[in-house]
Amino acid sequence: MKVIGVDIGGTKILGGLIDERGNLLEETLVYTKAHLGREKILENLFIAIDKLIDKDVKGIGIGSAGRINFKEGIVEYATDNLPGWTGCNLKQLLEDRYKIPVIADNDVNAAVIGEMWQGAGRGYKDIVMIAIGTGVGGAIVYNGEVIRGRNWSAGEIGHMILYPKGRQCNCGQRGCLEQYVSGTAIARTYSEVSKEKKIAGAEEVFLLAEKGDKMALEIVNDFVNSLSIAILSLKNLLDPEIFIIGGGVIGAKRVWWDKLKKTLENRASITPAQLENKATMVGAAKLIVDYLGKND
Ligand SMILES: [Zn+2]
Repeated sequence: MKVIGVDIGGTKILGGLIDERGNLLEETLVYTKAHLGREKILENLFIAIDKLIDKDVKGIGIGSAGRINFKEGIVEYATDNLPGWTGCNLKQLLEDRYKIPVIADNDVNAAVIGEMWQGAGRGYKDIVMIAIGTGVGGAIVYNGEVIRGRNWSAGEIGHMILYPKGRQCNCGQRGCLEQYVSGTAIARTYSEVSKEKKIAGAEEVFLLAEKGDKMALEIVNDFVNSLSIAILSLKNLLDPEIFIIGGGVIGAKRVWWDKLKKTLENRASITPAQLENKATMVGAAKLIVDYLGKND
């Protein structure tokens, strides 16, 4: 059996043709061009799927940024990274077009399922995943099942308040984790502290820290401290077997991973994600494989 798994992000749509054992047979990337709105995002989603689909494909799994109604396959809420995406009925639109079953979930929920199937989550049943990229996403797995919440917003770890009265967040609160730990936040902090220096992104801050830049080192230490506070709070709340840490910032883990381990001592078990940018796509495929298995 073959299925298609798709990861819809603010910048890229990543699609994969995957068999029921998780082998990636073919892959495609289409730029989302999200700023052009819902119709353009859908057009690019169709282009990605059209490139992969053939008569042997039995279903499509979608992992999308935003709050996704898993039961209905509807985007309940998406931020301005995907303008106009809120309210989009992904399941119905895709089932009407392709005449095969479709399932949709939040991108980090799909990512943790991907890691459980093919990556760092294999063999674990109680997991917290933290995805640190442009923003901070999260997913909670309890006894092998993703906890999605009453309003499909469980696991929004990025909006746990870390510093009351802290930085304003786009969610309306102040001092959210995302405002201190995301790639965006790391770059912003460096720009603020160094004043005149323009900084391209978090990767540049990590490179500067590696070269011994004092300001960058301090920011990396603050990043590690903030992240460890969040991990320990979650550990006290959920006591998972393992924390899987992924997202773009994991690419620079050579600079900060050992510091994080040292800060946590043995109070929480952490492991880096293994599927890199493919986790959501692979997990979305697994969701539809399981769905087809149950509805045979
Ligand atoms: Zn927030």
